[in-house]
Amino acid sequence: MDKIKFSDIRITGGLWRDKQDMVKNVTIDAVYNRFCETHRFEALKCTWKEGDPDCPHIFWDSDVAKWLESAAYIMATEERDEKLEKIFDDAVDLIVKNSDEHGYFNSHFLVTRQNERFCHRGEHELYCAGHLIEAAVAYYEATGKDKFLKAMCKYADYIEQVFKLEKSAEFFTPGHPELELALVRLYHATSDKRYLELSKYFIDEHGKPENGEISNNNYNQDDMPLRDRITADGHCVRALYLFCGMADIAYEYNDSGLLEACKRLFENITNRRMYITGGVGSTYMGESFTVDYDLPNRKAYAETCAAISLAMFAGRMQAIEPNSKYADIVEKVIYNGFLSGVSMDGKSFFYENPLEIDPGFNNKERFPITRRQEIFSCSCCPPNITRFIPSIAEYMYSYNDSVLYIHHYMNSETVGGSIGIVQETNYPADGEILIKCNIDKEYIALRIPGWCKSFKLSLPYEMKNGYAFVRLSGETEIRLTLDMPIEAIAANKRVHENAGRIAIMRGPVVYCAEGVDNGADLKNVRVDIHGNFELGSAEFLLPSIKTTGFRDADFDSLYKFADDAYEEFPLTLIPYYAFANRGTSEMLVWLLKK
Ligand SMILES: [Zn+2]
Repeated sequence: MDKIKFSDIRITGGLWRDKQDMVKNVTIDAVYNRFCETHRFEALKCTWKEGDPDCPHIFWDSDVAKWLESAAYIMATEERDEKLEKIFDDAVDLIVKNSDEHGYFNSHFLVTRQNERFCHRGEHELYCAGHLIEAAVAYYEATGKDKFLKAMCKYADYIEQVFKLEKSAEFFTPGHPELELALVRLYHATSDKRYLELSKYFIDEHGKPENGEISNNNYNQDDMPLRDRITADGHCVRALYLFCGMADIAYEYNDSGLLEACKRLFENITNRRMYITGGVGSTYMGESFTVDYDLPNRKAYAETCAAISLAMFAGRMQAIEPNSKYADIVEKVIYNGFLSGVSMDGKSFFYENPLEIDPGFNNKERFPITRRQEIFSCSCCPPNITRFIPSIAEYMYSYNDSVLYIHHYMNSETVGGSIGIVQETNYPADGEILIKCNIDKEYIALRIPGWCKSFKLSLPYEMKNGYAFVRLSGETEIRLTLDMPIEAIAANKRVHENAGRIAIMRGPVVYCAEGVDNGADLKNVRVDIHGNFELGSAEFLLPSIKTTGFRDADFDSLYKFADDAYEEFPLTLIPYYAFANRGTSEMLVWLLKK
């Protein structure tokens, strides 16, 4: 299926308009300034000397590339911006100038370890190449300028020569996947099928024996061929970027074995190894998946990049095979475990997104941090946020000859392309959605979210795979009302961490309690699921929730005879994505059930 490109859609109101304005007006500059202060852009000059204290890190090029890609997306959705374009063009000039005669560019290896090119699988050269390629494609599509694209085609040709034709590198596949999906994008931008074939080559080679030995290490997905994978293991971001590449190749080559592997992995993640927020990564050790139902809240790693890459994977699946379970996961991620990664003012970021903060413990542990930071030494997440938000409309629609699928609801209108469609809605502040379209399709299919128990549609419909199919005849207006009550959610009993606890959701949005509203010892707080829940003020874009909380009475001794006496107090819950915006505070998603 095809997608309506994000650049042909304008978000015209609501939460995502606010977030896109935040990225355009604040975050893109904030990340750029931090990257300049830390010499990431200067590194492109390749004037460092080996042994310099600030010598470029092996993944700095990927940080800069993701910032460049973000700038291209802002220009693609808003308007050309002289300042952003000058930064972009200057960076491209440096990259082209300092690329060697083969087209190779890496600000770390070119300067510090010239003789070690393509010798170390774990050192991110192909990962950086992938992000540079994505940035080049994004800029070409936003501006028509092809200098960067041509340079990256030359680089990709060199990678093809070294890895596929000569097999002269010291390793066979990217240690940190990303190039696989980037090459598919390069193929679409250039129509040169060699890039698609090179991506497929890497997908096919992953997990094969290297130097005669099969690895037992699942950190890089090395322990078995990808078509045989059953569970999602190892480093979450590596795994999910690779699964995106797998889904791309499965679609492009109509490869049913690879698609089945993608489906198995999706089910394993979303039914066994994912937080209610859409976060993944249960441990900081290896930033990785662990085992089924192991979802510790305070020690959750749940990296922002892992949430983004899960949305990218689910987004690919939603376009390959329309089933609402895929779009449901995109939605779960974007309103929760992704959006928590950036502060409400757009200037600081979480690398990890825990579901519980107790400063008394957290500040004594390595992770997670209790406050967002402006930059990290490993700063992959901030520029991933700045590229994801401007391009978020890419997830809204897909279509074939007869059906236009609406996967996501955002106040928006199409501004180009052949399909004209308008959505008028405050979603997810409420569930009222008005759709106006005049399109040459037999059906329009509206996703009914998995969280929604009842809905109304103004026209006759038929349900299929979680989508309501409405037959079209000329210009059509459709009113969809999704009932959006406040709900208490239980976890599977095998998630021992959440035994006896519930989480509160409204629509796709997960809520949390913070100490700043509710006092200390949140793990003590009980909620009556049959109690009265009301919507409160919308300090953080979406309404807060008010109910009565119950907590054990305090006493001085360490132990006493138990009773069932509770103190009642007004409990305030805020959207999870907004936690930690009012100083260091306790935070908890899973509350005790009274
Ligand atoms: Zn990250």
